[in-house]
Amino acid sequence: MRLDKLLSETGYGSRKDVKRLIRSKQVRIDGKVVLTDNYNVDPQLQLVVVAGKTVSVQSHVYYMLHKPAGVVTAVSDAANRTVIDLIDPADRMQGLYPVGRLDKDTEGLLLITDNGQLGYQLLLPHKKVMKRYEALVNERVTGADQEAFAEGIVFHGGERCKPAKLTILSQGEAESRVLLDISEGKFHQVKKMFLSVGKKVTYLKRLSMGPLELDTTLPAGSYRPLRPEEMELLK
Ligand code: URA
Repeated sequence: MRLDKLLSETGYGSRKDVKRLIRSKQVRIDGKVVLTDNYNVDPQLQLVVVAGKTVSVQSHVYYMLHKPAGVVTAVSDAANRTVIDLIDPADRMQGLYPVGRLDKDTEGLLLITDNGQLGYQLLLPHKKVMKRYEALVNERVTGADQEAFAEGIVFHGGERCKPAKLTILSQGEAESRVLLDISEGKFHQVKKMFLSVGKKVTYLKRLSMGPLELDTTLPAGSYRPLRPEEMELLK
């Protein structure tokens, strides 16, 4: 990250204050004075010292979880196993929480972090990031359904959804496997969209959120830290 951003986020004042600090040769990275505000620094790997004091960066964890069906997206629950229970106690930092939510019977990509501020705009549930789901539907999906999804489904209560892309992957006599791309995160959105065209979702899995894709080598119920290149995608 940029040096001026790092310093201003770790309590050294505004970007202007930080620039002044840098100009006055008070900032050293790995022992060397740095005079450029936009110096690219990795606070996890480099020692940053300001006026003789080491800058401490609170690092956060970001886990990609392949949520299995049967666990609830919550931090704690009196009756059910939660997604946090799936995190090994050794990795279970204080303040871990799931970003956004998947229904109990939905599988797939879920992010778990201890960063309450989040910072990564793409992951904020109210941001209109595209999400891709794979679903099994209990009937043949038609071209008319695809058009209705593209125009914007209206729920039975009158609430209107943004246009969505419905792709048919395969069709059986009484079942369809589809992909659905949506930019919203309304409660039970996918299931309610299909109900609005008289069909029932029998299986649901989230494959991606924005540029972040579920790791296909990650078995259901397991997790891993996001890779640096995945963290980059979220910035
Ligand atoms: N839409 C749903 O209906 N359920 C989910 O878990 C996610 C999206």
